[in-house]
Order: sequence, then structure tokens, then C-alpha cells
Amino acid sequence: MPRRPISAANWKMHKRSAEAAQFCKALAQLDPDGEADIVIAPGFLQLPAAAAAFAATRIRVAAQNMHHADNGAFTGEVSPAQAAEFADWVILGHSERRQYFCEDEIALEAKLAAAEQHGLTPILCIGETQAERDEGRTDAVLNRQLAILGPDSPDDLVIAYEPVWAIGSGEPATPETAQQTAAAIRAKLAELIGPERAGASRILYGGSVKPANIADFMACPDVDGALIGGASLDLDDFSAITRAIAAA
Ligand code: PEP
Repeated sequence: MPRRPISAANWKMHKRSAEAAQFCKALAQLDPDGEADIVIAPGFLQLPAAAAAFAATRIRVAAQNMHHADNGAFTGEVSPAQAAEFADWVILGHSERRQYFCEDEIALEAKLAAAEQHGLTPILCIGETQAERDEGRTDAVLNRQLAILGPDSPDDLVIAYEPVWAIGSGEPATPETAQQTAAAIRAKLAELIGPERAGASRILYGGSVKPANIADFMACPDVDGALIGGASLDLDDFSAITRAIAAA
């Protein structure tokens, strides 16, 4: 069965509520056709506005992170139940979470289980740094990050391959690297969750995706869409990227 492509926007710590609402209303009106899953991850405080704007559309909202516990004394955190009040998806393990907030595989394993429990589709981000690539450790790093997956992992699993050196740098991976790595990720998934589920899992590329390069990534047989940071902040750019993803 063909894998449905995904156009996912990660807004990080950008856009205030009025701006987020305006963008989402405009995107909802464009109503990009139904050939792709479109997912917008605004800041937590902007989730309600985004969810309201998309209520009557196929566009879905994602949290950028969440705690694993249902509730408790975790000041400043957002629980999966709270996120699921507005979001249907959740981004987990973004490299900025790993790098600046010490997120590790133990935390991510718990968050993955919590996502499934609360009906949130996880986008699990993995990727190597420039130093790890230079040292020839890309496969080892990706395999370690994937090792939290197993037969009990959520059914609708989305992996975002985001080489850390390509994020926000304006220097994307080549389509050859993206394809080679996505194929290696799928092969590893086959070991971890079984070949059938690996074949159905969607693998995104992320890192300096722009309207001008998205078609090259979508031509890669193992790349099923993109996680887009900077270019997703601009409605025209994000719409153009989404159209290319849907047309692939
Ligand atoms: C990201 O942060 O997930 C990302 C891919 O950012 P950018 O598109 O700006 O490289």
C-alpha cells in the first residue's frame, strides 16, 4: 500500500497567537488538497488557536514536545493529556530537545508510550551531528536513537531523519544522502518492529527544506515527506512545499 506523504511544520519558538491564528486561517482557506497529511506544530500557547482554525479541515495540529506523565508535580511541563486536548500529533526527540534540554532515549521511550496511550501520532526525530558524521558514526548514532522502538511501539510510526548539521543551516543533505539514510532507517525498523510495519512506516526528511529542493527529496523512494522548520513560517513557502509533497 502506498504511504501517504506528510508535510509537517515545526514552528519552534516563533509566532505569537494572533499571527499563528492568521496563518492557520489562511492555510485552512487554501485547503491544500487531500493527498498529504498536513501537520502544524505551533508553540503550546498557540495550539488552541491553530486547532480552532483547522477544526473543519483535514489539517492537523502537533505539539512540539510533551512530558510522559499524565499529571503531577512537574513545573513548566505539559502532559500528554493536556497536549491531546488540542493536538493529534506530537514531535518527539527533536535535536534541539536532545541538545539543549538533555532529552535522552530513556525519556523518549516513555514519551512514545504516552503518545500511543493518548492517541497522539508521534514524529520521532533522529539525526547525527556533523562531528558524528565526520567520525563515520552516523549509522551507530541513528541505530542507538532507533533502539527505543520495538514490537510494542505505536502502530502509526513516523520517523523524521534530520541531520543536525542540515537544520537551519541552509545546507540540506543531498537527496542521495537522504535516500540512502532513509533506506537504512527502514531496514533497521524492519529488525525492530518487523518488515511489514517498517514498510508502512513513514520516514520524513528534515533540514533546510525549501520550495526549490522539496521535489528532489520527494523523488527519493524511501522519503515520505518533510519536517520543515524555517520555511514553514512563511505561508507561501509552506504552501508551495506542501503542494509539491502532495503531488509526489
Ligand atoms: C527543524 O528544525 O526540524 C528543521 C528541519 O528546520 P529547518 O527546516 O529550518 O532546517
